[in-house]
Amino acid sequence: MVFAFLSLTDYWGSLALHNHPDAFAVDALAVARALSPDEPITLLRPHAARRAARFFVEKFPGKSLYAVKANPSPALLETLWDAGITHYDVASLGEVRLVHKFLPQAKLCFMHPVKSERAIAQAYHNHGVRAFSLDNQEELDKIVRATASDGVRAGDLELCVRLRVPCEHAKLSLASKFGAAPDEIAELLTATRQVADSLGIAFHVGSQAMSPQAYTDAMELVRAAIVAASVTVDIIDVGGGFPSVYPGMEPPALEAYFEAIHRAFESLPISYSAELWCEPGRALCAEYASLLVKVEKRRGDELYINDGAYGALFDAAHVGWRFPVIALNPETNINMQMSAFSFYGPTCDDMDHMAGPFILPDDMAAGDYIEIGMLGAYGCAMRTEFNGFGDVDTIIVEDEPMASLYRNVAANYAGRAARSGEAASQ
Ligand SMILES: *Cc1c(COP(=O)(O)O)cnc(C)c1O
Repeated sequence: MVFAFLSLTDYWGSLALHNHPDAFAVDALAVARALSPDEPITLLRPHAARRAARFFVEKFPGKSLYAVKANPSPALLETLWDAGITHYDVASLGEVRLVHKFLPQAKLCFMHPVKSERAIAQAYHNHGVRAFSLDNQEELDKIVRATASDGVRAGDLELCVRLRVPCEHAKLSLASKFGAAPDEIAELLTATRQVADSLGIAFHVGSQAMSPQAYTDAMELVRAAIVAASVTVDIIDVGGGFPSVYPGMEPPALEAYFEAIHRAFESLPISYSAELWCEPGRALCAEYASLLVKVEKRRGDELYINDGAYGALFDAAHVGWRFPVIALNPETNINMQMSAFSFYGPTCDDMDHMAGPFILPDDMAAGDYIEIGMLGAYGCAMRTEFNGFGDVDTIIVEDEPMASLYRNVAANYAGRAARSGEAASQ
């Protein structure tokens, strides 16, 4: 990925903004008009990631670990670090190396419950990782072996036992693959307590959890596990799952999640000095990026666009995720009828299809541009180079991310919303 940090005002500001007195900052429309790009462009909003990070740092009643897999871009890592995110949830040796390289001071927590012994050893001995997660006895044995030095067991391990919890409130389940079952966790906690300096219990309620109840229910299972094992627990890690706003998915405010978690944490039978952790991925970076795409062809209600399932739209293709869209056509009459479209991506493959529905003006045609929003998490991070596509330029914009259309927080947005009719149709 080419990271083109352009000073927009210098580059095309006057050109792009001249006819748009309502534009309060350079946005996707300005980019489309100035460049008429043939390739998709990733639009970055560092201010949105900074705001999300500050929100977690100031309001989450514990420590927030950024789940790096949601978007490992070094520019984002640095933005989050500058905003006060000091802990990073890494899941592979590749992520350990990446974060260690760009943020040498960061605290890394290796929270994938199935790791190779070599990865554990390298993380511990070469990259200073002390926190690891596990969900079975073999993994615990591996961690103990891999972190020993000259036959002496490590005395500084922070070990989080991952508990399997239901994912019924989440849009993407993480319930089947990892986690010790409630009836096997007591034994594992007891065994882990014997080798850990700090003992934690971690869980993940699934991604995009639409209700705080997900966390309250999981905390009840944590309570039962602590009681059954009767061990001292030093860390409660409530994982990720904090939701963002997408069309048709408007979760309660994040404060409600934080309050529910705080209340449940305070009532657990743990020591006064126990720490509360969370591992947000999506909620820290969904608003960080969007995508500017071009319509290459229209066939009925199908639009052939220049990015797709092998690009930033994996979730749109494979789990039917509905990302918000806006037509960037300033000539569209604001009374234009809206229609439901599906997208085809640029590769030669039928699977490169995003069913949507994506609501756009009726008159969409080849040559038009569309902004697809909320792709900062599990969007840009999924891009491949399949079929020769994938080399995508990156531009920083200063306007508000599309979620604000649904939350209606930015009055300035009215102009933009009216331009596409998107807000009215959702
Ligand atoms: C994916 C993942 C996260 C982040 O989840 P979000 O739903 O993006 O917040 C956090 N922790 C673990 C262990 C994960 O696998």
